[in-house]
Amino acid sequence: MEDFKRLRDLMVDTQLIPRGIKDERVLSAMRKAPRHIFVDDYMQHKAYDDMALPIGDEQTISQPYMVAIMTELLELKGNEKVLEIGTGSGYQAAILAELSMEVFTIERKALLAKKAEERFQALGYGNVHVITGDGTLGLPEESPFDRILITAGSPKIPEPLIEQLADGGIIIAPVGIRFSQQLLIVRKSKGALSEQLHVPCVFVPLIGEYGWSGDEEDS
Ligand code: SAM
Repeated sequence: MEDFKRLRDLMVDTQLIPRGIKDERVLSAMRKAPRHIFVDDYMQHKAYDDMALPIGDEQTISQPYMVAIMTELLELKGNEKVLEIGTGSGYQAAILAELSMEVFTIERKALLAKKAEERFQALGYGNVHVITGDGTLGLPEESPFDRILITAGSPKIPEPLIEQLADGGIIIAPVGIRFSQQLLIVRKSKGALSEQLHVPCVFVPLIGEYGWSGDEEDS
């Protein structure tokens, strides 16, 4: 049996802090959340490695550093209502749940959504709600959201998500072409939007009405 707590601390000390992650709340959430529970059993020994890992259905759990930097850029204080697009394994949503008030997370693949939901229940993350569907449409009935995190790559930020962002809110999203993107930070203040590009990244595609068409899935 691996000592997963030791591996988590090693992940934070060797992958996150040296690369500049400073937010103590983010670092302690990543020391706490059991990433190995969010991957299949055969992959558990790699759960804390410095890489993205397959989670089935041709999807991935993001590299720990990418989870940490996207979370840090959200500037969570603890009282936010957060929307995540792309539940995947559920790990990023668990980190968000540690750091905010309530998390709504949308996944288009029903099997992944079901597995993530089971993990949240087993681990006692009562403030996470999983929805199966096209996340590019957002969740108008629960809007506005203080923070929106998109964890799949898209050509641009879906318009419905911009509309569903609260004033004073932040969206973080990997935006670019099919095989390479850059993190984009969007802030809404007094109705006006400001944008800032951050680190390069590579995510699986955001597929939906306001993302890529499903054809890219087969490419
Ligand atoms: N946040 C995830 C985690 O912690 O494991 C990793 C997300 S994975 C890189 C991207 C996910 O976005 C995939 O599970 C994919 O099925 C999902 N996805 C792609 N397009 C979507 C859409 N329109 N709505 C919801 N989920 C979508």
